[in-house]
Amino acid sequence: MGQIKFNMNNSNSDLKGMSVLLVDDTPANIDVLRQVLTTEGLNISMAPNGEEALKIVSQSAPDLILLDIMMPGIDGFETCRRLKKNEATKSIAVIFISAKIETEKIIKGFSLGGVDYITKPFRQEELLSKVKTHLQIKKLMLEQKKLITKLDAISREDPLTGLSNRRDLIEKIEYERSRFERVKKPFSLIMADIDHFKKINDTYGHDAGDYVLTRTADLMKDIARKLDTVARWGGEEFLLLLPETELKGATNLAEKLRETICLINFVQEDNKFNITVSFGVNCYTNKEISVDEFLKSTDTCLYQAKETGRNKVVSLFNN
Ligand code: GH3
Ligand code: MG
Ligand code: MG
Repeated sequence: MGQIKFNMNNSNSDLKGMSVLLVDDTPANIDVLRQVLTTEGLNISMAPNGEEALKIVSQSAPDLILLDIMMPGIDGFETCRRLKKNEATKSIAVIFISAKIETEKIIKGFSLGGVDYITKPFRQEELLSKVKTHLQIKKLMLEQKKLITKLDAISREDPLTGLSNRRDLIEKIEYERSRFERVKKPFSLIMADIDHFKKINDTYGHDAGDYVLTRTADLMKDIARKLDTVARWGGEEFLLLLPETELKGATNLAEKLRETICLINFVQEDNKFNITVSFGVNCYTNKEISVDEFLKSTDTCLYQAKETGRNKVVSLFNN
């Protein structure tokens, strides 16, 4: 994983395009702030009072707000309180602008969720360095959030086929089971296992085996519906979760997959070969059954398909 760099020097090109909302009832103050900040390539918007500021924020949330305390109508403190109460706006950084250093006001500002304060008259260097610091923090937080989302996606994906992995699918089955308790919509599972896959590896090599796995995964994804989840359950084993699907529909899909896969001509280097797959199909219709039990009875169907000749679909109604 790449190292996260926290760049606190004065090169600010990385802050270009970030947005700052200036809120002050004195146009001269807004002018000064704007002049200083636009040179940094920031997107500046302005509001002459708290009401207007809240309106602007509800349409498009800035990365940072410079908020005057003393304003007619709702003052800066109240504006901040409302921003922090709202889930959509509570994480926007607020820097208070106060006319003079008044400790009590500064403390109140922090207690309301402000991250910093600037006193009037502005000192350009101080203003810039505080704005940059808080924009850098915001940027870092956004990057972290993206990284977490990415790591979460990676932790749910099988690297070879790009399918969901076991962890992701179990969560999805748990979700469908809890949905069944509420809305009584049955869902189905198809467990699929490539027949004599070991022989493919042994005869044509591991790369040929990997190729079979990725191609089979792609085909299953193509044939299944968008709402379905296709997962790699183990080495050469796949599990399909079909929400709102009864046993009949699931069995039909398994049969279609079986027929389609055994017609594929796999070509890898100089080798040409075919494969077959066995399927176990099961439908969830009884909320007393745990996910584990449901998986086990699906596996039993698959086992029967293997035992009774392979290249076939065995279904079980789970009541
Ligand atoms: P059956 O019809 O009973 O399912 O027989 P099988 O040979 O398919 O089943 P077995 O469990 O004996 O062998 C599975 C093989 O799958 C063994 C293992 O090396 C191979 N395998 C597991 N994961 C991978 C993988 O990621 N790539 C490749 N190429 N092979 C894999
Ligand atoms: Mg197998
Ligand atoms: Mg197997």
